[in-house]
Amino acid sequence: MGDDNISEIKGKDFLRQIINEHIKTGKYDGKVITRFPPEPNGYLHIGHAKSICINFGIAKDYPGGICHLRMDDSDPTKESYEYVNSIKQDVKWIGFDWGDKLFFASDYFEKLYEYAEFLIKKGKAYVCSLSESEIREYRGTVTEPGKPSPYRNRSVEENLDLFRRMKAGEFKDSEHVLRAKIDMSNPNMKMRDPLLYRIRHVEHYRQGNKWCIYPLYDFTHCLSDAMEGITHSICTLEFENNRELYDWILDECEIKEPRPHQYEFARLNINYTVMSKRRLLELVEKKYVSGWDDPRMPTISGLRRRGVTPEALRSFCENAGIAKANSIVDIAQLEYSIRDDLNKKVPRVLAVLRPLKIVIENYSEHHEEMLDASYYPHDVPLEGARKVPFSREIYIEKDDFMENPSKGFYRLSPGEEVRLRHAYIIKCERVIKNNAGEIIELRCSYDPTTKSGEENSEKKVKGIIHWVSIPHSQNVEVRLYDRLFNVEHPETIDDGFNEDSFKILSNCYVEPAVAKSSPGSRFQFERLGYFYLDPIPYQECRLVFNRIVTLRDSWTKISAEKPEKFEKTEKQIKPQPQEKSEFDMSELPLEVKTKLDKYLKNYDIHKEEALTIAKDETLADFYEQTLSEYNNPKGVAGIIAGEMARELKEKQPKQLAFTPKELGELVKLIDDEVISVKIAREVFSFMIKGEGKPSEIVEKRGLKQITDPSELGIVIDTVIKANPENVEAYKAGKTKLFGFFTGQVMKESGGRAKPELLNELLKKKLN
Ligand code: ATP
Ligand code: MG
Repeated sequence: MGDDNISEIKGKDFLRQIINEHIKTGKYDGKVITRFPPEPNGYLHIGHAKSICINFGIAKDYPGGICHLRMDDSDPTKESYEYVNSIKQDVKWIGFDWGDKLFFASDYFEKLYEYAEFLIKKGKAYVCSLSESEIREYRGTVTEPGKPSPYRNRSVEENLDLFRRMKAGEFKDSEHVLRAKIDMSNPNMKMRDPLLYRIRHVEHYRQGNKWCIYPLYDFTHCLSDAMEGITHSICTLEFENNRELYDWILDECEIKEPRPHQYEFARLNINYTVMSKRRLLELVEKKYVSGWDDPRMPTISGLRRRGVTPEALRSFCENAGIAKANSIVDIAQLEYSIRDDLNKKVPRVLAVLRPLKIVIENYSEHHEEMLDASYYPHDVPLEGARKVPFSREIYIEKDDFMENPSKGFYRLSPGEEVRLRHAYIIKCERVIKNNAGEIIELRCSYDPTTKSGEENSEKKVKGIIHWVSIPHSQNVEVRLYDRLFNVEHPETIDDGFNEDSFKILSNCYVEPAVAKSSPGSRFQFERLGYFYLDPIPYQECRLVFNRIVTLRDSWTKISAEKPEKFEKTEKQIKPQPQEKSEFDMSELPLEVKTKLDKYLKNYDIHKEEALTIAKDETLADFYEQTLSEYNNPKGVAGIIAGEMARELKEKQPKQLAFTPKELGELVKLIDDEVISVKIAREVFSFMIKGEGKPSEIVEKRGLKQITDPSELGIVIDTVIKANPENVEAYKAGKTKLFGFFTGQVMKESGGRAKPELLNELLKKKLN
């Protein structure tokens, strides 16, 4: 493959651009060796899928490219074979193969130990006997340099002796640690004599009790990369500051070029869920979900259990792109990828989830017929058909009947007609109720001249509904799954857990073709959604279908109406949280608690924001400093704890290209209505790149909010002019289009329209 080809086909992201460059210059002799390095301390989630797609995807893209699967298992406390096995299964399922390149960092313990002695002998590492809290204290803060440990100048002999005795098990946990000797006043806190080894008298799941000292991540990772001959060590942004240490260790261990280098990309984050392994483990342990593979979990095993296809997951990861800045992907995008994939491949069938019985009085009791029905609509290039049995007694969906139909209800109601999919037009003649006045059955008539495909009557009806023939259908169970959280950015697992995220419908019916299918089959139940025949047998040998995804995004309208109404008789399984405190204050260190208290009492800011800031020293310092420049605790907290938390967390303020004063100015711009909160985020993204004061950025880039009605009016007029059909539809009653227009105007104004003004003017102009 020629260079041109490579840059054309694969130059689509910055990582591939870097690799293309290396191939061009021959840096690694044209080799591309990546690795995916999970720690086997939990199940993989969608974020990992992204990293898998990047690392294995890159290896696949380049001739001779290889991707290693490496268990990063140097911390004995939480790792296990259960996790190793699940990781292997998940990577395979996503669609990648590591061949014979499966490695374990724990296999390198011997080698790593030798490197540690090498550093000690060079005077580049020392045994430190401060306690953990003393080490933290000596490290200083982002604004103050650290102090050298009193043990920093131990002789090489003493260090070697102590380190060997650490290994031999002569000391208790935490009595000593091995530290790199770098620079206690380095602005990068990671470089302030980081820990390399610590004592842990804990059995390792693979090494048993062979070791009681364990290497830390920063030491293990870069050297494992080097030992495996990795060329491009790709990780997420939170390791940006670790890169300096990565390079330092490899240099001091005298690993020669061409050696591995680290590159960072943005983590994948998704709203309405939690993603870190710690939080996922908490959901499992506190029994909020049934396990790591609960179909609501954002884990790979959960998605698989739900019925999502690996193709959908890969396409989602691909579409999310590879970025250099963190962002949050809308979960609707994942749902879109799932639908888009299933739409192209699964058969459409008939199923009724909440049955209402119909007796067709003019259809003979002794008759039944087999109707022709195709599995796919015209726009899907697949073929397939089956026969659907029809008889005198059928079920339809309860929701498809209304005794007193509201305006615009085109389905069945007394005296009205509706078409049964693949069958006839029926008319509702009578409603049968029980003593309590509840509808138990409908009496209908059918028109024999209206059989689908061969109708010769003039009759046209507006509605088509799905149904199943009672004597032919099979009773099954359906499990409905929904988003795990109601809030967009849950901070804890109690923060807006969606109690309605799991429902069981136990009285559902499917047509015979579905009942005969094998476990693991996927279907579109017409008008209901995509469903997966759960491959794991439940009790009573019943078929259980998981809803993979609805046909449409039902969340955009959730604020207006409940997503689904369920009958009282339906069994609802509610997770039972063992403790339901908002957040457990007792677990927080005292200094964090003190800050939190102050923020909540004196500043009255939102509790999640307060917690985010209080927990992080850098954020907290920055917060106070900003407040002393511009005193709007709520405004400043919103920005610091929001989009910016990550930026401030990852970078040391000394490296930050803006000051607390400038951040204060940014908030003031919002308060003065010069910019919106949304634009403030954009301005901030330029501030971190060092583009200067916020007011200058706003000026230079023309980001000032449009507050002048006549100026905004012109933009609105343009949009109205460009969309005559939608304007007409809106005027005819399709008021949902208001959102469309708002979006268009926002877009047209480059995001600068003042939202309240836009709302007000648009309403006026459209009516
Ligand atoms: P978490 O922080 O979610 O608990 P982790 O980073 O501790 O996960 P690891 O097993 O260390 O989990 O991760 C293995 C690899 O997957 C790392 O290279 C890491 O950078 C990457 N990774 C983890 N989470 C994400 C994510 N959300 N998006 C992209 N890559 C991720
Ligand atoms: Mg990690």
